[in-house]
Amino acid sequence: MTILDTDAEHDPNKILPIDYDWAREYYEAGVNNNWVPAEIPMQDDVAQWNSDELSDAERQLVEWNLGFFSTAESLTANNLVLALYEYVTAPECRQYLLRQAYEEAIHTDTFIYCCDSLGFEPEYLYGMYDRVPSIAEKDQFVVGLTQSIDDPQFTIDGDGDVRDLLRDLVGFYVVMEGIFFYAGFAMMLGLKRQNKMVGIGQQFEYIMRDESLHVGFGVDLIDQIRTEHPGVWTDEFDAEVIELIEEAVELEQIYAREACPEEILGMGSEQFADYVEYIADRRLDQLDLPEQYGTENPFPWLSEQVDLNKEKNFFETQVTEYQSGGSLEW
Ligand code: FE
Ligand code: MN
Repeated sequence: MTILDTDAEHDPNKILPIDYDWAREYYEAGVNNNWVPAEIPMQDDVAQWNSDELSDAERQLVEWNLGFFSTAESLTANNLVLALYEYVTAPECRQYLLRQAYEEAIHTDTFIYCCDSLGFEPEYLYGMYDRVPSIAEKDQFVVGLTQSIDDPQFTIDGDGDVRDLLRDLVGFYVVMEGIFFYAGFAMMLGLKRQNKMVGIGQQFEYIMRDESLHVGFGVDLIDQIRTEHPGVWTDEFDAEVIELIEEAVELEQIYAREACPEEILGMGSEQFADYVEYIADRRLDQLDLPEQYGTENPFPWLSEQVDLNKEKNFFETQVTEYQSGGSLEW
């Protein structure tokens, strides 16, 4: 019996007894992180956006990140329910996938809320993934990694099929949520630190907290599949994954350079490029692959906000003030 089985022994409708406690723990951690964007007031952001307090470069940085995330959240949700959900059959994993899908709906809602509050033309923001090459390339890169399992004829019959599924998991959990989201997090949280667009910054903090669980679950799922299908993760696949991560780093660095072409408040494209390398090394660590960059974290203040270390129990190192988000009064 394995995590991908659909035989009678592993009835997808019988969640008890739980085989994979770690999956259940991610579900519970997700529930503890409940939040909705409408809790966060946007008046100050709206006032700032309509004033001349922000430089052109700062405005561009906000627009680029809203443009990227507004469609990336839907892409991720679609991959979860349309591609992954069919093949990951262990019921406790599916319970987490459903929870994650809900969180992606919250994230999608966040960008509706930002778009509406700041008065953007929807097509202006949502069209950026067609119009802005550095955004389009990131999206096409991860979509390309899911091609084989997106095929309606796809079934898991042998090692090659398991490897195709792993490639999708690396694409969405490690590259999309684990690397492509992080220059944007650094930019928006950097602005917030300078008291600029604080409401949006806070929403990005909540999203980053959710995403760190998504990445953790994805990596543990990859590990579990690797353990249950020894022989699938070959040296060749090792090299392929490292290459994918290196390509992703280049795409993310191009994006960061375009989104933030000049230095803003002590954050420049060089530092964002370093940060992307630092994050990529953390992801390689999580996958038990050798680090490729050895770059120091240029934003130590950011790592205080999110624990990227797999060894630590990140459920217990969440910023405590967030925990009240689970007990909202309606
Ligand atoms: Fe998300
Ligand atoms: Mn996510």
